[in-house]
Amino acid sequence: MFTITTNSPEQTSLLGEKIANLIQDNLIICLEGDLGAGKTLFTQSLCKALKVKEIVTSPTFNLMNVYEGKKRIYHFDLYRLEQPEDLEEIGFYEYTDVEDEVVLIEWPDRFFAYMPEDYLHLKIERGDNEQKRIITINLEGQKYKNIYEELKHCGNISD
Ligand code: ADP
Ligand code: MG
Repeated sequence: MFTITTNSPEQTSLLGEKIANLIQDNLIICLEGDLGAGKTLFTQSLCKALKVKEIVTSPTFNLMNVYEGKKRIYHFDLYRLEQPEDLEEIGFYEYTDVEDEVVLIEWPDRFFAYMPEDYLHLKIERGDNEQKRIITINLEGQKYKNIYEELKHCGNISD
C-alpha cells in the first residue's frame, strides 16, 4: 500500500494517464471514494489516454458504460446495486473475465468480497483543501504487480 497526493484535478488526470500508459493486456481497477472525490474524473483521464473519443460520464443509472479506444473499457458504477446476486445478473463476471480489456468499477464498497481476484484498488480521499486528494493504492492478487510497482516507484505526481 502506498499513497499519491494530488493538488488539482489536472494532477489526478495525470495519474489516470500514467496508469493507462502502463496497461499491457488488461487491467481491472476498483475506484473507491465519496461523491465528488474524483472517480469519474480519473476514469475520464484514463479513457482519454486510451484514445476514447466519446464523452465519459458516470454510469450511475445504467450500471455500466462501454467505451472503445485502444482498449475496450467497461465502466461500472455499483452504487445502485442492491445485493451481490445482482452482479451475476448484470453480467459482471463475464465482463471482468478480461483478456484485452480494461474494467473500472466505481462504488465497489459493499461488494469487495465479490470482486475479481486481481485488481488495483484506488481509494480517493479529500485532503485539507478543496483541490487536494489523497489516493491510496493497493494491489489485490499478483496479476497487476508490475503496474503497481511501476506506480510506486514513479514518484509523486505533485512534485
Ligand atoms: P466522483 O465521480 O468521485 O463523484 P467526480 O470525478 O465527478 O467525482 O468529481 C470530482 C470533482 O472534484 C470535480 O469537479 C473536480 O474538478 C474536483 N476536484 C478538485 N480537486 C481535485 C483533485 N485533486 N482530483 C480530482 N478531482 C478534483
Ligand atoms: Mg462519478
